[in-house]
Amino acid sequence: MKNVAKRLLAATLTLSVLVACVGISGVGASAKKRQRSDLTIGIDPGHQSRGNFSTEPMGPGSSTKKIKVAGGTHGTTSGIPEYKLTLAVAKYLKKELKARGYKVVMTRSRNDVDISNKERAEKLNKKCNIAIRLHADGAAASANGASALYPSTKNPYLKESVCKKSKKLSEKLLTAYCKGTSIRKRGLSARDDLTGTNWSKIPVALIEMGFMTNRSDDTYMAKTKNQKAMAKALADGVDAYYGFD
Ligand SMILES: [Zn+2]
Repeated sequence: MKNVAKRLLAATLTLSVLVACVGISGVGASAKKRQRSDLTIGIDPGHQSRGNFSTEPMGPGSSTKKIKVAGGTHGTTSGIPEYKLTLAVAKYLKKELKARGYKVVMTRSRNDVDISNKERAEKLNKKCNIAIRLHADGAAASANGASALYPSTKNPYLKESVCKKSKKLSEKLLTAYCKGTSIRKRGLSARDDLTGTNWSKIPVALIEMGFMTNRSDDTYMAKTKNQKAMAKALADGVDAYYGFD
């Protein structure tokens, strides 16, 4: 009888130690900080080799229709089309983000595709935590610098919380981008007329990386070395948004 009692006591002790361990690890798991590997970053390299001029709703339930994908601008000095520049930077950004531990989804990895802005948003909605839309500007030759476009809190298509996070994401990306490159910071701009933004269900930022119609911006962005710097700077912006910096 004495041995049985001892065994019983031992078993009870083992069980309580086990319960305690499970309890502790349970607490540890819930307090575990989010890691880069828990996050999937969506990248949409703007445009494609040919625009698609049929139309789609500008946002969910909208009666306003806009063309599916615009042709985009091109480098007046470099001769590079916008769709090639956005894909080149997107590929370097993907590589940089993956090296830092993030997961990455791209809307396209080739130029010869036909994916509308709405379809691009929907693809990223499915798998990603945030969406980065890469573009470059075109205007008069004197216009220069980078800007970030975000949905305002009055945007009728997106949840207010998503709009607020989008502004924060836009601000972090633009600040890091202009710090890590020699492109001038123009600033943030609220835009509620962008199809690819309005169909987003996740925080979204559209970065206008510079003006392809400006000699200095265009020459800078055309260089491989600088495209890598642009990608690294944007990855710094993602780190800053999540507080990994
Ligand atoms: Zn564009």
